[in-house]
Amino acid sequence: MNFGGLVEWIGHAYHGDMADCCCPPPLNLDPHRGNRAYRRVLWAVLTINAIMFLVEIGAGLAAGSASLQADALDFLSDAGNYAISLFVVGMALRYRAIAALAKGGTMGLFGLWVIGSAVWHAVQGTLPNAFTMGAVGFAALAANAASFGLLWAYRGGDANMRSAWICTRNDVIGNLAVLLAAAGVLGTGTGWPDIIVAAIMAGLVL
Ligand SMILES: [Zn+2]
Repeated sequence: MNFGGLVEWIGHAYHGDMADCCCPPPLNLDPHRGNRAYRRVLWAVLTINAIMFLVEIGAGLAAGSASLQADALDFLSDAGNYAISLFVVGMALRYRAIAALAKGGTMGLFGLWVIGSAVWHAVQGTLPNAFTMGAVGFAALAANAASFGLLWAYRGGDANMRSAWICTRNDVIGNLAVLLAAAGVLGTGTGWPDIIVAAIMAGLVL
């Protein structure tokens, strides 16, 4: 595939039928609903997801939890999609493709970093703080519920509704995996549940 073909393919793939993509509906979905209000909603969910990315990375470092950092990857991915919707969607295919490539590259680097962090924790035999993991896991659940609720009114059509459900379901599964890891750490008194959950989540991203 030549570069032009690749760019075109990535551009279409971004707003194609990607079941696991937390892609917000296009801005110009329905002009009667008001794009200004929708842009405010996109800004709100972008802020929520960007803050939760930073919170989970920070808490993951502070609590020594690799699974919290792995869950942060999803908030980064979703924030990236909302940012692309706000700033890039109206642009030419070439710029959309570059933005999608930049997002993919960033995700790949963070995914490798999380794998490295999981290996480091495994080698060091560290014990993550299960209570921090639990508290932040619940905050992540609340953040995903809030994002889903905010975007709810702007989901027009069955395909959009379906992708919104799948996206939120995948996010919630990630949050529940962190809570499960926290319970496992508490129950076993070892860091292994945290490391195993982090490795699976980062593996899926990569
Ligand atoms: Zn997501």
